[in-house]
Amino acid sequence: MTASIVIVGAGFSGAVVARQLADAGIASWVIDGRSHVAGNAHTERRPNGVMVHVYGPHIFHTADTRVWDYINRFGVMETYNHRVKATSQGAVYSLPVNLHTINQFFGLTLSPSEAEQFIASRADSSIGTPVSFEDQALKFVGRDLYEAFFKGYTQKQWGVSPTELPASILARLPVRFSYEDSYFNHPFQAIPRDGYTPIVEAMLDHPLIEVTLNKKVTPEELKSAEHVFWSGPIDEYFGGRFGRLGYRTLDFVETEAQGDFQGCPVMNYCDPDVPYTRITEHKHFAPWETHEGTTLYTEYSRLAEEGDIEYYPIRQVKEKEQLHQYVEAARNAQKVTFLGRLGTYRYLDMDVTIKEALEVADEFLACRRDSRPMTPLVVQPL
Ligand code: UDP
Repeated sequence: MTASIVIVGAGFSGAVVARQLADAGIASWVIDGRSHVAGNAHTERRPNGVMVHVYGPHIFHTADTRVWDYINRFGVMETYNHRVKATSQGAVYSLPVNLHTINQFFGLTLSPSEAEQFIASRADSSIGTPVSFEDQALKFVGRDLYEAFFKGYTQKQWGVSPTELPASILARLPVRFSYEDSYFNHPFQAIPRDGYTPIVEAMLDHPLIEVTLNKKVTPEELKSAEHVFWSGPIDEYFGGRFGRLGYRTLDFVETEAQGDFQGCPVMNYCDPDVPYTRITEHKHFAPWETHEGTTLYTEYSRLAEEGDIEYYPIRQVKEKEQLHQYVEAARNAQKVTFLGRLGTYRYLDMDVTIKEALEVADEFLACRRDSRPMTPLVVQPL
């Protein structure tokens, strides 16, 4: 082992911690089991010139100026306004649900205030604080829009009924009574001009950071480290002793074509009888580039099995019970800090990942300064 601080995972979490420590004069060794850095944000240019988001679409969006300034240090971020379309019941609509979606779906010409009243009249006002995904949808958009846009898609994406999923998943998506069809509300929305991987490479490009790829490590092998930052799965750190935490994984069927296949970056397929959830046309993530060819991902979701790449933490009742046990074990662990999507078993956007990694590094530096032990969980997974 070359440095006594070991960082497991070379995604955004690991890279940000490594860089913050390096900028403070502390060396670290970053280890990743894959052949590339950037984790699931990894991008690669295909022979047809198209930049592909290898593990599915990643759009950077944030309201946090510290995070925005931070990522801009490491590469050129091109302004990118994400717009998503949805095919449902034989027609194409705009998402997230907005005034255009409502007027088109119901064949009306409502104004913003009329639409708000109209949706309120269709929504289920008997639901107090929504607990499930379905409650959240019925309370905010009513049954027709729920069934057209959310029910089938969510069933395919998560493999369970929306009655069993938390309201927080739907709360990611806004409902708007205007023609604003930007997918996200955040003031800073961008995609790196040269892809995400060079950004993470630039973060790791420091004389005090050593990176080893294609290397899987177990906590036992890291026993002599002064401290470990673990951004791999939290259950893996504890040898799966409370059972393996469940994830959804994605299968992407990649195809190439000429010209413009669908005219937008992401087309969601909301009907339950279409087996895939969405088709992504990657060149539309880089509107500043032009390509004759085009690369498509048709996306299928299923339960992750041994050896599959973890995407979305399931976090239903069973997993939450297991997670409680892992969190308890983590609280009692020493010389280790858990962070990131896998390390805290949460559905994390990239900006939150970076923000939390910055906070983890801040805490580590403060602990060193004050000579107190480093906290195993700076952010709480539950
Ligand atoms: N969702 C849906 N219909 C859609 C798009 C999203 O029901 O057309 C639901 C689905 O359950 C999904 C969640 O909203 O998991 C969050 O969607 P988002 O687009 O944020 O998912 P991501 O891009 O992170 O997979």
